[in-house]
Amino acid sequence: MNKIFALVDCDNFYASCERAFNPSLANRPVIVLSNNDGCVIARSNEVKQMKVPLGEPYFKCRDLVEKHNIAVFSSNYELYGDMSRRVMEILAGFALDIEIYSIDEAFLELDGFRHQNLDEYAAEIRRYVLQGTGLPVTIGIGSSKTLAKVASKYAKKNRQSGAVFNIVNHPDIDHLLEGIPVEDIWGVGRQYDKFLRRHGIENARQLKYAQDKWVKKHMTVVGLRTVWELRGKSCLELDQAPAPKKGICTSRSFGRPIETLAEMREAIAEYASRAAEKCRQQHSAASIMQVFLTTNRFKEEPQYFNCIQIVLPTPTNDTLELVRYACRGIEKIYRPNYHYKKAGIFLTDIVDSDNIQLNLFDNYPYREKSQKLMRVMDQLNSRYGSKTVQVAAAGTRKEWAMQRNMKSNNFTTNWNEILIVKA
Ligand SMILES: [Mg+2]
Repeated sequence: MNKIFALVDCDNFYASCERAFNPSLANRPVIVLSNNDGCVIARSNEVKQMKVPLGEPYFKCRDLVEKHNIAVFSSNYELYGDMSRRVMEILAGFALDIEIYSIDEAFLELDGFRHQNLDEYAAEIRRYVLQGTGLPVTIGIGSSKTLAKVASKYAKKNRQSGAVFNIVNHPDIDHLLEGIPVEDIWGVGRQYDKFLRRHGIENARQLKYAQDKWVKKHMTVVGLRTVWELRGKSCLELDQAPAPKKGICTSRSFGRPIETLAEMREAIAEYASRAAEKCRQQHSAASIMQVFLTTNRFKEEPQYFNCIQIVLPTPTNDTLELVRYACRGIEKIYRPNYHYKKAGIFLTDIVDSDNIQLNLFDNYPYREKSQKLMRVMDQLNSRYGSKTVQVAAAGTRKEWAMQRNMKSNNFTTNWNEILIVKA
């Protein structure tokens, strides 16, 4: 049976958070600046219409700010993090499963709601989020995550449709896909943009009808999955996504419910290590970490969802440091007497690890030493198989780990599981 996903995306998130607490901003253009008030990192719709690009240095738009009486804010990550938590908490109550995709976006799995009027259901989600947080959201619904992303783009374009756009039973999806340039397709991005255009594929409809064999040859199986997703065949489950631009997420459902803080700490330490590894692989470092946990919404038992945001003193990709913060975070939000189904780490505000701005009051004295240690750890793990060396905090027995009893060996990434041919 076809799946149904909704992508819920907060509109102009940082700017809307500022508005939520200041009614006088309702009709006033708003911008939010990056660390040290350097560049514009969020704009209200009015500012977008003035064509102020994202990342514009603040000094360049001072005149405009004066002329249009734009309200300017330094970034307040504590506030945005907490608002994000509130939004996610509300969303978690509306779906069987949720994937926090970035600080202001989440995928909801709505398979169980197919008999409801999905448009009405989405409108209700919007109402609740707005009422509970003051933040407007846009919702796109589709039969794959990639199509939900497409729908969300249309929801943003056609505000009059009530900021909800459902393409599950749309009579002319091809026409909609035609309006999406290839570089805007989720998971295609800059990597394939030029290549596809060279081959005459300029929009999502053209990619949808490209031949499987050709796609697989030039864009690997990852690209093929995207194409199938455009055709409405869901290939990406929740928590399975092309590399997000805005952050790195590691989250997984447990093999069995976790009921103790000790086990939860192990799980979260493991996810933090994995996220740190991903971060190092792409030569980046994170400035902000979100940690979340949730119970199982499928079961009729007491439910709990929480999420905490930690602003890291210095952007980092250090496993030991990230694990330490993750454990502190989970200790703060963990409540006993619940059966937890899932937890995760989300790293955001990613910067290039080669030019990290060091903090004068850096409280981590081992930074340089630790970087060497990370290099050695990564080398060992890539040579002898992942998890050859890992932090003890992640536990050794991992009884909570995902059940994958029928998983084949990691033939290509673990020496101990290599294929043996007996004569
Ligand atoms: Mg957004």
